[in-house]
Amino acid sequence: MAERRIQVTSRLGLHARAAANLVRVASQFQSSLTIRRLDGNAQADAKSILSILTLAASRGTDLTIIASGSDEEEALNAVVDLFSRNFDEPEKADSEQFSRATMELRCKGLGVSQGIVIGRVLRLQEGARNVYRAEIAEADLERERRRFRAAVRLSRRQLEAIKDRAEKELGRGHAYIFDAHLLFLQDAKLTRDVEDYIVKERSNAEWAAKVVGDRLLSIYTQINDEYLRERGSDIEDVIQRLLSNLTGEGPKYPNLSEDAVIVSTELLPSTIAELNLNHVKAIATDAGGWTSHMAIIARGLGLTAVVGLRNFYHRTRTGDQVIVDARAGDVILHPATETLEQYRFAVHEPVPTVREVSVEEFGPVVTRDGVQISLRANVELPTEFHAVRDFGACGVGLFRSEFLLSRPGLIGSETEQYEAYKLLAEAAGDYGAIVRLFDVGGEFGPDLKERERNPALGLRAVRFNLHNKQIMRTQVRAILRAAAAGNLSLVIPMVADVADVRMSRQVIAEEVERLTSGNTTFAEVQVGAMIEVPSAVLTAEKIAREVDFFELGTNDLVQYTLAVDRGNDKVAEWFRTLHPAVLYGISRTLQAAKDAQIPLIVCGEMASTPAYAVLLGGLGTTDLSMTPAMIPRVRNVLSQVTIAEARDVALKCLAVATADEVEEIVRIEFKARWPELFPPSALPK
Ligand code: PEP
Ligand code: MG
Repeated sequence: MAERRIQVTSRLGLHARAAANLVRVASQFQSSLTIRRLDGNAQADAKSILSILTLAASRGTDLTIIASGSDEEEALNAVVDLFSRNFDEPEKADSEQFSRATMELRCKGLGVSQGIVIGRVLRLQEGARNVYRAEIAEADLERERRRFRAAVRLSRRQLEAIKDRAEKELGRGHAYIFDAHLLFLQDAKLTRDVEDYIVKERSNAEWAAKVVGDRLLSIYTQINDEYLRERGSDIEDVIQRLLSNLTGEGPKYPNLSEDAVIVSTELLPSTIAELNLNHVKAIATDAGGWTSHMAIIARGLGLTAVVGLRNFYHRTRTGDQVIVDARAGDVILHPATETLEQYRFAVHEPVPTVREVSVEEFGPVVTRDGVQISLRANVELPTEFHAVRDFGACGVGLFRSEFLLSRPGLIGSETEQYEAYKLLAEAAGDYGAIVRLFDVGGEFGPDLKERERNPALGLRAVRFNLHNKQIMRTQVRAILRAAAAGNLSLVIPMVADVADVRMSRQVIAEEVERLTSGNTTFAEVQVGAMIEVPSAVLTAEKIAREVDFFELGTNDLVQYTLAVDRGNDKVAEWFRTLHPAVLYGISRTLQAAKDAQIPLIVCGEMASTPAYAVLLGGLGTTDLSMTPAMIPRVRNVLSQVTIAEARDVALKCLAVATADEVEEIVRIEFKARWPELFPPSALPK
């Protein structure tokens, strides 16, 4: 055995290309070559790039190199020589190539919740999908390993092609990173570990690759060196490539084992549902608007979130420092020291959160002129069920049941759903809970791979359910059975007309029949319709005759009435909740419900906004369902206004022609009538 002490003298330390050169030299010898940090913090195999990078050896780090084997002296000399030549890299070119902009970068988006968070970026890859574990039979393990090796070969061919192209188009200096990717792919630390995992855990290759990749990534995110930490993103890229070659779909996210600011182009609610929320400090996304589901959930969970950042994701790397200021809608990447100081002060200044509002009142609120208004909770995740009681809600006005489907393409069994609805009924108490049938589009169910050109106008909600009757029947049965244990109702999402209601009720009736003949315990439930598309508004009086209640989904009502995609930040300025056409739609639907003597619950985000809740009261609403944390605030304002006055304002709003004019009326009238309740920040801008 031979060993030598050396110090890293190259400017960027033992970074990816230097490590690649080291692997190349070390691999020419038979002897094993181990590198050990003198401070005892880590040791690495000099023939493994992944292993070398985990040394996090920046300039000035003292190392010991140990060679053992038949050619140990030559091996040691060659490696020490390479270190002394600073890995044969021109220092200047290095600094040019490797210095990625780490200047402070401010991006403006839309803050959709409260709070300021300083943290580290964790990127969730665009378009990537979840990976699930499957148990592989003993006899098939070898085939699974072969499948993995084939994916490695395919990934290698792809990377070689990319590298060739990069060399031609950008020059050799820029293509080096693909050398590193290729070395990652061939590194036994990755490939052997994955194969071992497959065999030991009888796991499918996708899951094995994800677990091993996550372990490697978690090592990199902890490295206390900006440049080397960035290599985590390169490993992430390689793992994603491998997974997409294995599944054709790609994976979703690394294990959240430490606090993170999730940065993504667009975050699917199903992903949020699956994240370890204890470790999510904040969310920043390129897409999204106030009523996108991501924003709704972030508010519900009290997460700091800024959406609509446009081109932020691609500027980040996992591990970058970032400030997310949801109050101002700002996100600051690589904050300068002075900026950090400013914000640290702000972070320590307690940000009043809605959750800190003391909740002493429960049940409906009564306005100053004696009108009783029910305040219910919108709930998405079972982890939020406790919020019903915490915030004094009159039960659950809307359970977005599709959040039970945290895995795309995977619908929970009848028993799983039944258990969830039973828990929901328990949490909702005597006021009960309204379960919405799955409001999903083509991203779920058997047609997973089929992308629709226009999903918002496609096979969504009731259409999806009627098209996938087995899924619908399973859900209906689970609801009916759970209704025997508590007060549950069911609402059909996005009905376009009476025909949608009739077809849905037919399925429900058939399931009632089946449960009856099978002697299964169940209870019949009230059936409602979500009114959220113009055709339903225009035929509301006809639909009202065929259902037990209405729910008014103002988020979609705005989207479909104004033809503005609610999640598209490019058209956010056209998304006008207070558009006269929307107010007219609400008013018309309320009238239809009143004439038919059925209840109507407003459950869009409008109900969660105190000023809009007053306006809804003025339009005739007596039942609101909202983000639970907003109930105390909405209660507070409604208890201090009169519906008579709110009606005067609402009538003025209905009489004008544009959203600007409505907003102007709201600003002027609210300020004049209730100045203490509505400071300018609480009114439309
Ligand atoms: C709505 O559209 O207003 C609604 C309540 O449902 P979702 O936001 O889930 O579409
Ligand atoms: Mg809706």
